[in-house]
Amino acid sequence: MKQLTYEESILISQKAILEKYSDIEPEDLEEHLTEDELETFSGFYDYNNKPIGGDNPYYECSCCGISDPQINSYLFNHSKYCDYRENTLKEIKR
Ligand SMILES: [Zn+2]
Repeated sequence: MKQLTYEESILISQKAILEKYSDIEPEDLEEHLTEDELETFSGFYDYNNKPIGGDNPYYECSCCGISDPQINSYLFNHSKYCDYRENTLKEIKR
C-alpha cells in the first residue's frame, strides 16, 4: 500500500474535521474546534500580503488586514469573513 505524504495525511485530517463540524457556519468554526483541531489548520502561507506601512515593519493579509505575526500561518487566525480563509476552507472540503 502506498504511503501517504505528510501533506496528504494533513489534508485528510482537515477534511475530517470540517466534515465533523459540517452543520456549523464557517464563520463560527473556531469557537467550536478544539486546540488540537485548530492546530491542524496551520502552515498556510499562500495568502496575498502587503506591508502594513508607517513604522510597522510587518506585512498583513491583503484581504482581512490581520498582520502576518498575528496570523502565524494559522488559517483560523484570519478574520471570520476573510475571503482567503473562506476560499481555503472550500478548497479543503472538495
Ligand atoms: Zn486574511
